[in-house]
Amino acid sequence: MKYIKIKNLFNKIPIGKIVCVGRNYAEHAKELGNEIPERPVVFLKPPSSVIYSGEKIIYPTFSNEMQHEVELVLLIGKKIKDADEKVSEKAIAGYGVGLDMTLRDIQSELKKNGHPWTIAKCFDTSSVLSDFILKNDYALTLNEEISLVINNENRQCEKLKMMLFPPAELVQYISSLMTLEEGDLIFTGTPKGVGKVEKGDKLFARIDNIAELSCIVG
Ligand code: ZN
Repeated sequence: MKYIKIKNLFNKIPIGKIVCVGRNYAEHAKELGNEIPERPVVFLKPPSSVIYSGEKIIYPTFSNEMQHEVELVLLIGKKIKDADEKVSEKAIAGYGVGLDMTLRDIQSELKKNGHPWTIAKCFDTSSVLSDFILKNDYALTLNEEISLVINNENRQCEKLKMMLFPPAELVQYISSLMTLEEGDLIFTGTPKGVGKVEKGDKLFARIDNIAELSCIVG
């Protein structure tokens, strides 16, 4: 079982489901040749795909193009269903930074055939998590910058306010589709600048005032 690690807190919360949002930054939707969506694109990743800062991302043998997606991750703190925006905001317990590693060659093939993205998104080590900071300890302004540096080179860098759907709106929408529970995580989509990683790459992800993580590709 995988757990959520919270800064300055020792109780372990098991990870529930991981809900991911695609195309939540206009410039990223464009770079992959996608339309800007009217509603967030939603998919799931299994908790078994999770590793933590300091661990190794393993390149699957069935892909030649693993790409990085750095994302703000929301921690859900209570059970909600069909919540309004206010209740949705209250259900967010904390924030972290995460990597949604993606097999772009596989995903392109799956998209072409109208198949689900499971094989491209759910492999072991595909979800990297930082420690989380509780909302009680930090109030998100969306002026924070999210960034990913690989081998000292800036690859992704954007203000969180460039998100098409801000956190509470995402939670509200997802809660209209499925029950959200304590320990669920929401990956909120990646800004522009996604690209390929190679074995030996050192990744460093960060969101101002919230969290950072580092890992190596093996
Ligand atoms: Zn993503």
